Amino acid sequence: MELTVIGYWGGYPAADGATSAYLLKKGNFSLLIDVGSGALSKLQKYIAVTDLDAVLLSHYHHDHVADIGVLQYARLVNYYTMGVSDVLPIYGHSEDETGFNRLTHDYTKGIAYDPNKALDVGPFTITFLKTVHPVPCYGMRITDGEHVIVYTADTSYQAAWIDFAKDADLLITDCNFYAEQDGAGAGHMTSKEGGRIAAKANVAQLMLSHLPQYGDHQQLIKEAGCEFNGSIQLAEEGLICRFA
Ligand SMILES: [Zn+2]
Ligand SMILES: [Zn+2]
Repeated sequence: MELTVIGYWGGYPAADGATSAYLLKKGNFSLLIDVGSGALSKLQKYIAVTDLDAVLLSHYHHDHVADIGVLQYARLVNYYTMGVSDVLPIYGHSEDETGFNRLTHDYTKGIAYDPNKALDVGPFTITFLKTVHPVPCYGMRITDGEHVIVYTADTSYQAAWIDFAKDADLLITDCNFYAEQDGAGAGHMTSKEGGRIAAKANVAQLMLSHLPQYGDHQQLIKEAGCEFNGSIQLAEEGLICRFA
């Protein structure tokens, strides 16, 4: 499987950027995980909107769903201009009824996942962990049967991440804060906390994402590196991680 970072900013996109969105592909199947602000524009550098097979959402904060509405318009226009009538499934939790109900449109359909059960989407199997965040939010452990990617979505630190991320090939953490800040009140993690989870969970690679708009991001790598000896990278647009 192959993961492409489409957007990685936390809260709002910096100039010419996008907030959380990750494209996961295996064979001909393409899954978009979160659809942040700017995601639809950036996505089209890597894939045609008509080639998306499914969408999966962690939660309904704007920086993760801002472009759902325009994605729905794109699918509607694709129907009128190209006759593409496939209905795009958008998987989301149903603990926020207003957020969930917005997922269904002319050519998209909201499908509620049960976070207590494994979800099969194309070649992927996804299990969920409730995060610590001001609204219901789910982190994801995604496997294609061979490799494992864990995405914390938005969360403050909780020990449960260590088991959940155990031996993953790639761990993508919420790194909205620098080591000396306190992310817990806002429902986010620091560089150091991400590094600690990576080390204790024995993951192969750590990617810091949901990044802040201030400071020097290289500092985040140094801070996470105080906890974790393995490979650490900053999320950046177009970054591709391949597992085969
Ligand atoms: Zn959030
Ligand atoms: Zn967020």
